[in-house]
Parts: sequence; structure tokens; C-alpha cells
Amino acid sequence: TEEPLYCIGCGAQIQTTDPKAAGYTPASALAKQKEGEGIYCQRCFRLRHYNEVSDVQLTDDDFLRLLNQIGQVDALIVNVIDIFDFNGSVIPGLHRFVGKNPVILVGNKADVLPKSVKPAKIKRWLMHQAKEQGLKPLDVVLVSAEKGWGVEDLMAEIDKERKGRDVYVVGTTNVGKSTLINRIISDQTGMQDLITTSRFPGTTLDRIEIPLDDGHQIVDTPGIVHREQMAHYLSAKDLKLVTPTKPIKPKVYQLNEGQTLFLAGLARFDYLSGGRHGFVAYLDNQLFVHRTKTSNADDFYRRQLGKLLQPPRPNEVADFPPLVRYEFHAHEKSDLVFSGLGWITVPANTQVAGYAPEGVSVVLRSALI
Ligand code: GDP
Repeated sequence: TEEPLYCIGCGAQIQTTDPKAAGYTPASALAKQKEGEGIYCQRCFRLRHYNEVSDVQLTDDDFLRLLNQIGQVDALIVNVIDIFDFNGSVIPGLHRFVGKNPVILVGNKADVLPKSVKPAKIKRWLMHQAKEQGLKPLDVVLVSAEKGWGVEDLMAEIDKERKGRDVYVVGTTNVGKSTLINRIISDQTGMQDLITTSRFPGTTLDRIEIPLDDGHQIVDTPGIVHREQMAHYLSAKDLKLVTPTKPIKPKVYQLNEGQTLFLAGLARFDYLSGGRHGFVAYLDNQLFVHRTKTSNADDFYRRQLGKLLQPPRPNEVADFPPLVRYEFHAHEKSDLVFSGLGWITVPANTQVAGYAPEGVSVVLRSALI
């Protein structure tokens, strides 16, 4: 066996298998490395050469140490979440760790919201969801990191609220935190070479600092893994297929009791009881939805997974977790949320079941729209 290599930037052990984990370096880059020459992991390479931030995942120990530090600093906390995956965006226990530090909640991916939705309503809803998690944000700001929408407002809000303090940007992976940080960096002029990396004390984690003009800084923290996200069960290609990139066009399904919708092979919705109704699905416009009788659904899924019901692809079926069923009684108009995929709005006084791959959450919440 060969000696392990370490990144000369961050010190992480070089590995070529997991692009999202620390120390990842493409095998092709490793092959080009010359004898006796140091090597940078892909993340440090991008940072040095392109001033571009990419995310790494945390181990649970590092994650706890990081959260502890966030409680101990005097800082403004900016918590980035994905509007479409609030559950997958929640950092477990964050409210206990922020201590007295104020929090701004940033709802990212506003560009894929259906055109009919009023931003004020989303903001109120996010504020409510945050409070249910024990967080009491000062404010909610909606942005699209990808399109650059709302980023100026966010910076103004940060400037107003930080009151001479540092700013810590935190988020789970896949919420778009790196995209947002890169947007902030590129919006600031004269930022070249100003980014520094150092360690969070006592951890193997990098901190990336964006200097502000009063000697304080915006600190980008590593992305925290939330295992309930659909993202962890799909290949990068499939994730692209099921993640909305354009404004969602809601689709209405008229359903009778005893009918089932398959959301490709990834999730399933059973209508149990409540009479004939319209159900509105907020999913990626391209996601394949198949309607069938509930009595046939198990058998259909067994035969068609990886065939008609894709993703997952045929070669991924063997490793794909079995679907787990959750039953709900909606007393009011509610959303049945499939973490990371989207949701189906169900009318009041209905009974439904939602299925998702083992490990991915299905929850019922009061209707967003
Ligand atoms: P991180 O893990 O939180 O750093 O997330 P990334 O910045 O790597 O983004 C995760 C995924 O979300 C990528 O596929 C991005 O293209 C996508 N994404 C990030 N910001 C936005 C946004 O504002 N709108 C949309 N539609 N997608 C976004």
C-alpha cells in the first residue's frame, strides 16, 4: 500500500472516491502530480486559483465542535436554507448553540417558486417554521443565489444587523450555501486573494473568511450533512433530474380514494379516504408522475422500478433503499412533503399515505400556498 498524501492547503488526507468529502482530488489530477511536489485537494485548488468556494461535509464530532464554537463567538449568524427542503435544511440543535447570537434566516432558491406565490407569504411561513424549530430569527430574507436575486438586500440586512461583529454563515449541504458565498465574493470588488483559510480550533475544518471593511469578516462554515435529504440517495445525475431549476408549474391531479401517484421511483402518494378531490403537486416540471390503483401499486413498483419508474436507473435499483410508508390525517389543508423532491397539497379532512426511501423524511405541514 502507498503512503497517505495530505493536502498542503488544508491538511486533509487526499482521497479520490468521494467528491463531497474532505481531501477529494480527482484521480486525473493525482496522476499529474510530480514526485516530491505538494498536492492541493480540489477544494483548496479552486480556492487558490479561482477564488471559488466549494463545500465539504462534516463528521458528527467536528459538527458538534463547530456548533459549540458558534455559541461562543459574538457574531451574527446567517442560516441558509433551501425553501424547497425546509426539513432537510434544519441544522439539528442549532437554536441551542447560537446562544445569544442573532440569526438571519436566508431562504434560498426563490427562483423556482411558482410564479403565483407571494414572497411575503413565504417569508411568514419560513419564520413560523423556524420558530417551531426553536429558532427566533431577526428576519427572513429570500434570495436566489444562482440568479443573484435578493443578495444585495441580504448584504444590506447583514450590514445593519451585525453591529461591528463577525458574520458566520451556516447551512446543511445542498442548500446552495457555496453558490451564495461565491455570489457575495464576486459582488465585492477587489476581493482577489483576500480569502484566507485557517482551521476552526480543535477540528479538521477549514474556515474561509471574507474580509469586511471594518476588520471583521464573513466566515463560511463547512456544510452540515443532513441524512434525511433525498440528495444522499441519488447519483449527482439523478439529483439534477429531480431538482427543480425553473419556476415550478403546479399540476392538479383529480383523485378518487384508492388511487396512487408514483413520483418516478423515488416516492409514492396514496389517497386513502376523503372523497373525490383535486390534489396539487409542486414538483420538478420534468419529474415523471404515474397514476395507478393502490391495490396494484406494490406489484407495479416491484415490476417497474428502474424501468418506467426512473430515477433510479436500472443499475441503481439494487442499492436503492426500500420505500417506507407514513400515514397522515389532514385536518386542515396541508402539504405532504417529500424531503428534497417537493410536496403535494391535500385538502382538509382527508387521509393519505406518503412513501420515501428509507432515511428520507415525509412530513405533513400546514399548506404553504
Ligand atoms: P451547498 O452544498 O450548500 O454549498 O450547495 P451548492 O452551492 O453546491 O448548491 C447545491 C445545489 O443547489 C446545486 O445544484 C446548485 O446549482 C443549486 N442551487 C444553489 N443556489 C440555487 C438557487 O438560487 N436556485 C436554484 N434553483 N438552485 C440553486
